[in-house]
Amino acid sequence: MKGTVHYTEDNNIALLKIDNPPVNPLSSGVRQGLYDGVSKALVAEHIEALVLTGMHRAFIAGADIGEFGEAAQEAVGLNEVIEKIESSKKPVIAAINGTAFGGGLEVALACDYRVASENAPVGLPEVKLGLLPGAGGTQRLPRLIGSEKALAMILSGEPFFASAAKTLGIIDHVVVQDLVEETIEFAKNIVLGGSKTRKIRDISDQIIEDRQNLKMFERLKLSLEKTHRGQFAPLKIVECVEAAVRSDNFDDGLATEREKFSECLKHPQREALIHIFFSERAANKIPGLSKNDVVSEVKKASVVGAGTMGGGIAMCFANAGISVRLHDNDEDNLNRGMELIRKNYAGTVEKGRISQAEMDKRLSLITPTIEFVALADGDIVVEAVYENLDLKKEIFSKLDKVMKADAILASNTSGLDIDAIAAVTKRPHSVCGMHFFSPANVMKLLEVIRGAHSSKATLASAMGLAKKLDKVAVMAGNCPGFIGNRMLRGYSQQAQMMILEGALPAQIDRVMFDFGLAMGPFAMSDMVGLDLGWRARKMVGGSNEVTARIPDELCELGRYGQKNGKGYYQYEDGSRTPIEDADANEVIRRVAAELGFEKKEFSNDEILKRCLYPLINTGANLLSEGHALRAGDIDTVYVNGYGFPKYTGGPMWFADTQGLENVLNDIERFYKETGDDLWRPAELLKTLARDGRTFASLDT
Ligand code: NAD
Repeated sequence: MKGTVHYTEDNNIALLKIDNPPVNPLSSGVRQGLYDGVSKALVAEHIEALVLTGMHRAFIAGADIGEFGEAAQEAVGLNEVIEKIESSKKPVIAAINGTAFGGGLEVALACDYRVASENAPVGLPEVKLGLLPGAGGTQRLPRLIGSEKALAMILSGEPFFASAAKTLGIIDHVVVQDLVEETIEFAKNIVLGGSKTRKIRDISDQIIEDRQNLKMFERLKLSLEKTHRGQFAPLKIVECVEAAVRSDNFDDGLATEREKFSECLKHPQREALIHIFFSERAANKIPGLSKNDVVSEVKKASVVGAGTMGGGIAMCFANAGISVRLHDNDEDNLNRGMELIRKNYAGTVEKGRISQAEMDKRLSLITPTIEFVALADGDIVVEAVYENLDLKKEIFSKLDKVMKADAILASNTSGLDIDAIAAVTKRPHSVCGMHFFSPANVMKLLEVIRGAHSSKATLASAMGLAKKLDKVAVMAGNCPGFIGNRMLRGYSQQAQMMILEGALPAQIDRVMFDFGLAMGPFAMSDMVGLDLGWRARKMVGGSNEVTARIPDELCELGRYGQKNGKGYYQYEDGSRTPIEDADANEVIRRVAAELGFEKKEFSNDEILKRCLYPLINTGANLLSEGHALRAGDIDTVYVNGYGFPKYTGGPMWFADTQGLENVLNDIERFYKETGDDLWRPAELLKTLARDGRTFASLDT
């Protein structure tokens, strides 16, 4: 059995210490140890109160998710442990020394009192894994703090530090110095005061009050469509808390919770979300890189280009406490960039997410400079100038001359050749790609691009830095568009082809929105601006691609997208809500006719496949080429960088759930119908489909 619990006594107080490093998950040995330890203390006559605490850095970080779905363990279940604690006639006090998440907080809620170190975070993050707190959390928390606050906490899955949790009413006492010593004192005082127990299951004043406001549950259920669109667990959470409020019988509520927990457990979203959870962690482990590779610590950073990306990247460094020089050769752009950074921080202060003092501190870490040489002492430089290979080469040859010898030289290019950029330097081993996503200070994803000559130290340092910047990093090979943008090409191309073939932007966008994307391809194009691609195409003398015809035509007519209120859709003054536009649809119809396309009807299913299957086919090619290391890496890229719904598990996981043979059949059909190389079935997909295997099976 994994993990254990140490039992000691301090006179009349039993002390149970949970030991399952590093974060004390509720593995079988911990559950059994808690059960046995509590049982022992309950029969020992001289023991008058119990204190439970964690060794290492956590109290209990939650369930051992490695144990999910496995055959029943030989140890007692968590609910039996909790029942044992809650039925104790001797007061049980949780001494929360560190993280108390999920089942860990539920154990603490079964105790009579909760004392916590001031830096200990508490939370119920189950919703993030498609689950609900299934060990009484949805029943005890509303009794303790009221259903509205309980629901906000459970639905967000976000943790609170002990002092905030005390204000909420979850924690009774916050300790600054020696937690265990003070909790034992606390326990002794309870004993002196008559050993009063306080079972949350018996507290009812909050839920009786909430019973007067049952409409709240209806309102909340409706709002889930916006806040948790497409997700299964959140509705079940609301239903559980509602059950707690509606019934006087605590055990009825518990039974409801168990029933809904098992519905979540069986739901495919749970497995998909756990796949993403593990994939994000695995993405940071790179074959060939080891802990022994020298990782240079980044204390000072430099950024070239103070535009959309450069400004956001500078903020990432400042947010992580790293000082950064931000250079632009255009003074107006530099000033505009700094102004935008200030505005962004001010917005965050306004929302109450950081203090004014924190904003000042972060701003003071960013030094704007018009002088290129001022970049020289950065441990890393990230280049974010226009997407133009010649310009990037020019910048890198200048960087090669000024940057200190062991600096990392990174480019934020969206898809240009990293090796061509590295080749202009005398130190290609120090060059890699660091592809941030827009807005860089918000988006979690970072693609680290491995050039042919990037050294292990360079890559290990870039991956290590990503962690420091609180990013989810994925290593990608050097091919046009890397992982994410290379896959996106087929998606966008098919969306364009379908409007030529007779579908309308609104129909396609609706299908993709209903699938779970934040927005469909045309609403997205309007947001980014149709004119960017149009201008880029014009610079190289225009494009012959049929897929460029409609956006080019719309731009010629002055329809640039959201920025001027007209694109594929129209937008009312300042609004971002797309409204179907007969004029745009007419342009589409006309261009399609001019190009000789015959109008056909599209089913939603066909639209979905035409948009998603290019992602899968290209993803399979990326895997066999070695440009993506794992199917889970591709899924991580898509859910963190492209708004792909997490609960589908990402495109490759989604393909697995459809059955690869079915996916292949459709791709073969599209290939036959169009002859388009995009649809040439990937060899890897053919092999896996033939062998009845999945993409996920490649990662295990
Ligand atoms: P941008 O046009 O907003 O900013 C580019 C900045 O670079 C401008 O301020 C310009 O003055 C500056 N610049 C140009 N030449 C320079 C030089 N010689 N020396 C110093 N500064 C110079 O561009 P952006 O959207 O921030 O894109 C920058 C890079 O990031 C591109 O490679 C782009 O492909 C990539 N990228 C963009 C996005 C996005 O969504 N915008 C996302 C990921 C990656």
